[in-house]
Amino acid sequence: MAIATTNPTTGEVLKTYEPLPDDALEEKIARAAAAFRSYRLTSVEDRVGWLRAAADVLDADTDAVAELMTTEMGKTLASAKAEVAKCATALRYYADHGPAMLEPQQLDADAVGARQAYVTYQPLGVVLAVMPWNFPLWQAMRFAAPALMAGNVGLLKHASNVPQTALYMEELFRRAGFPADVFQTLLIGSATIERVLRDDRVVAATLTGSAPAGQSVAAIAGDALKPTVLELGGSDPFIVMPSADLAAAAAVAVTSRNQNNGQSCIAAKRFFVHADVAEEFTRLFAEKIGELTVGDPMDPDTQVGPLATESGLQDVVEYVEDAVGKGATAVVGGHRVDRPGWFYEPTLLTGVTSEMAVHAEEVFGPVAALYTVQSLDEAIEIANSHPYGLGSNLWSEDEAERAQFVRDIEAGMAFVNGMTTSYPQLPFGGVKQSGYGRELTELGMREFMNAKTVWVG
Ligand code: NAP
Repeated sequence: MAIATTNPTTGEVLKTYEPLPDDALEEKIARAAAAFRSYRLTSVEDRVGWLRAAADVLDADTDAVAELMTTEMGKTLASAKAEVAKCATALRYYADHGPAMLEPQQLDADAVGARQAYVTYQPLGVVLAVMPWNFPLWQAMRFAAPALMAGNVGLLKHASNVPQTALYMEELFRRAGFPADVFQTLLIGSATIERVLRDDRVVAATLTGSAPAGQSVAAIAGDALKPTVLELGGSDPFIVMPSADLAAAAAVAVTSRNQNNGQSCIAAKRFFVHADVAEEFTRLFAEKIGELTVGDPMDPDTQVGPLATESGLQDVVEYVEDAVGKGATAVVGGHRVDRPGWFYEPTLLTGVTSEMAVHAEEVFGPVAALYTVQSLDEAIEIANSHPYGLGSNLWSEDEAERAQFVRDIEAGMAFVNGMTTSYPQLPFGGVKQSGYGRELTELGMREFMNAKTVWVG
């Protein structure tokens, strides 16, 4: 994929970039390694100060960064501004809580015949972050804030369609006053990732993106014996039981499936509705989907903008054609929008069966697949038959159903009576082919730390 800003609202290529030549890449890696040697020794207080300064820079830059993201990948301007605010919250969260997370953990010295026994958490070094375009600031920040608080150094290989947001990330940390080169952006294609990952000066990698990209990075990292965190695809189940508040569930269902123009890993994508309430829920859901305003994402009235790439649009067209061709019904939507740019109608498919591609894959666009089920057991069984296990969602007022859902759903996150959301204050991650490892909180921070056992006699 060319490294370029292409406006999905118009299809116009606005700016292209040459990938970093080999010697410039080598220089950036060398500078990152040199930066780590001194950055690891900086005080926790200094890092807290730089994180707070970065949050302040983001606050001041909100309008400009939001416009940049909307231009590069088509999210609505309002959601882009919310994304910037969330990044500032994450920076402040680590400034507030990071110092306690980095405290040594005292252990029972007497039991091991020592004067002192403890675990001390130390940064690992230069970490490569391979990131996707869908939340171009947030995904990268979810890595950067804890990594920098911990004393690690970051190299960001961002998605090729968000180069300006990627360059902004590097600029942000520089302007916040962090020491030079602790966070650098590499404008490289995905074929160059192997060269970076095999470099001895790069000690670990995190990737957020598709399962094939995760497999590739994990295979190389495995061969080179370097730890990884993988945040991959999702096809989250959204289960509605008879006791649920149907209006609230339908409202959240619409937001969850269509947020970010249908391109969120933790969007609810498969809707399992109990037969007793299926008719009513489907009516409410379809009605609210039909009310969504599709249009220019810069327009404050727009709720759903374009898909980020032309190939992404083509994938959605094919998924819906396949489903409808095999007997599904498009209750609303079902077509590309007749206008320039990569717009697709918010769509509700009913009558989805296991023969359809939408059943077993991830549709990265505003298309909801609805199943009618006879019981919670059936919903959980179909939900768990999917290879992904990222987020999950249940709507029920029945305590026993909620307990069963939390116990049995194969997912990294279980949300009950509310939208599955990536909160700066909660751990985030999946199981099965949605990846492994966690981001955010101390769990995320410690993924790239050496928990060093210390025994002092
Ligand atoms: P993608 O094509 O996998 O791209 C993600 C990143 O990986 C980009 O930087 C991309 O670089 C790079 N990449 C692509 N192919 C690669 C390969 N073979 N080896 C190494 N790196 C490779 O994914 P996307 O289309 O940007 O994002 C959509 C996917 O990400 C969806 O499946 C979504 O669910 C998932 N996602 C997951 C999470 C999560 O937290 N679990 C969050 C957001 C998105 P280029 O751009 O240069 O190709």
